[in-house]
Amino acid sequence: MTEEAVQNQDSNTASTPGRSLKLGQHLSTTNGWGGLVEQAKAHDNTAFAFFPRSPYGRESKKLKSEDPAPLVDAQRTLGWGPLVAHAPYVYNLAGKDAGKRAFAITSMQEDAQLLATAVPEGGTIYFNFHPGSHVGQGMDTGIRLIADGLKEVLPQVPDSVQILLETMAGKGTEVGSKFEELAAIIAHLDAEAPDVSARVGVTLDTCHVYDAGYDVLQNLTGVLAEFNEVVGLNRLKALHINDSKFGFQSHKDRHAPIGLGELGVDFFGEVVNNPTLKKLPMVLETPPRDDDVDEVALLRGLAE
Ligand SMILES: [Zn+2]
Repeated sequence: MTEEAVQNQDSNTASTPGRSLKLGQHLSTTNGWGGLVEQAKAHDNTAFAFFPRSPYGRESKKLKSEDPAPLVDAQRTLGWGPLVAHAPYVYNLAGKDAGKRAFAITSMQEDAQLLATAVPEGGTIYFNFHPGSHVGQGMDTGIRLIADGLKEVLPQVPDSVQILLETMAGKGTEVGSKFEELAAIIAHLDAEAPDVSARVGVTLDTCHVYDAGYDVLQNLTGVLAEFNEVVGLNRLKALHINDSKFGFQSHKDRHAPIGLGELGVDFFGEVVNNPTLKKLPMVLETPPRDDDVDEVALLRGLAE
């Protein structure tokens, strides 16, 4: 065997550390459930995200009319997942308008019911959403409305679906850029609906937390310790693994490709080797690149 063949073989074996990462991208549902499987295989995704309907709220006729069996089988036979579906951006459980809140609640229920059809027996799918924006009603009211919304959504949703609150950058009146805000939503649920609370977790977005003012670049372990104290690491279920275009405390929420933002490649090496984080599904949401660097391969290559 040539030296190159040996190296290729090495990088393809299951024992390569990067193989064990549950890692993928945000994939398109244009070609339905089967299309998700094809894209995941083509891009070496083992956990990934997708929108259960258009990001602006229109239902996906394609997903609703198709048999999700190809995706269910792929998760079972290839060990993929848990997948981390992303709710449309238009949902705002903390909105001022009762009609819009009702739309978000009903749509989240429908989306979660659809997602439950794509879960293998005994498995889980995560449904990540942006907690909401209080649009001037104040943070406490926003937190209250989000907790109330979840109390309506989750009892109508199969147990195989868990809902994840995403850490936000703190743009405008967003709820969820401080760990305390996420903890306050969960505290309402703990007090009023423990069954609902047990099915709520958190997605940590590396770009958002840095933009929000948590210095993961200088002190990742310190930020995780703070998260543990305020929310509890047992609630941390998934990562959005994005570099940050504008950086610390910018409150901008602009993703950059891995290594091309303010966080940099070494930081992501720390993330994929962190004992707590490396077990979680990691989803890239980075913008398209103009070079041909494969970010999934890059991240797998950083694992030691
Ligand atoms: Zn998001």
